[in-house]
Amino acid sequence: MPLIKTTAMFKKAYEGGFAIGAFNVNNMEIVQGITSAAAELNSPVILQCSAGARKYANSRYLVHLVRAALEVSDIPIALHLDHGPDYATCKSCIDDGFTSVMFDGSHYPFAENIAKTKEVVEYAHAHNVVVEAELGQLAGIEDDVKVDADKAHYTKPEEVEEFVSKTGVDSLAIAIGTSHGAFKFKPEQCTRNADGVLVPPELRFDILAEIEKKIPGFPIVLHGASSVIPKYVKIINDNDGKLDDAVGIPEDQLRKAAKSAVCKINIDSDLRLAMTAGIREHFKAHPEHFDPRQYIAPGRDYIKELVMHKIKTVLGSEGSAPGIMELVNQY
Ligand SMILES: [Zn+2]
Repeated sequence: MPLIKTTAMFKKAYEGGFAIGAFNVNNMEIVQGITSAAAELNSPVILQCSAGARKYANSRYLVHLVRAALEVSDIPIALHLDHGPDYATCKSCIDDGFTSVMFDGSHYPFAENIAKTKEVVEYAHAHNVVVEAELGQLAGIEDDVKVDADKAHYTKPEEVEEFVSKTGVDSLAIAIGTSHGAFKFKPEQCTRNADGVLVPPELRFDILAEIEKKIPGFPIVLHGASSVIPKYVKIINDNDGKLDDAVGIPEDQLRKAAKSAVCKINIDSDLRLAMTAGIREHFKAHPEHFDPRQYIAPGRDYIKELVMHKIKTVLGSEGSAPGIMELVNQY
């Protein structure tokens, strides 16, 4: 099975009230953990690489790791560039065989964001690749992307129609209160639930609804949508880690978003936490171990467990692979 674009995935997701998980990959074990989970649940999946991941692993390694995953797991997979900073990076990924790229011009003035996004769309579409762009800015830090809380701003619904029609983009990332990283909100912005877990302010579903009204049927993307699952944070802290007041987006809010126009939900921090939890737990229990297979495998197991949980309880994409494969030849 070849790598596919996200077009058929998003069409099915929009109609079916679910979302496709877009998981960030940096190495072999992360690719294996994610795709074995998706294959077991017959779910499509988007594997995405940031510019930082391409620098770390070398883009060619990532492309071939993802191709290997395709050979061993019979599910629809798209390979996506996360936060492409410029035309050259997007072009390089398209030339490398990516089936989807994001151009992130969200920090540019509106007209400049349109012009730069359009340039990427023209090259991508000529090569049968789809493009995600962004309007509005999320707070937080992820790899090379850093936005201070005072610079972050919600997407303006009145801009989306013009942006989509002038750029020809295929999906749109919006800012409605999600945030990059494992420390999405300051404790004073949150309340605490009965278990002592920090709960952030609710996502702006009113803005999402307005956007959906302006561009009905158009796929929306949520970045910064890790839940910072307390289980993995606790394992890390119980095994000599130190993550104080890590806070994410509650899963019930993400599930609600997945049922709407949101067709792609990005998850990176949760993968990092799961892998770190597995490795830390192993080292604490087995300080004498020094074979990397011994300590990386538990990290991979936690990634698989996490992705299965996301597919079942947050994304709702379980069992949707066959329907997407039927549709994929039309695009
Ligand atoms: Zn992002």
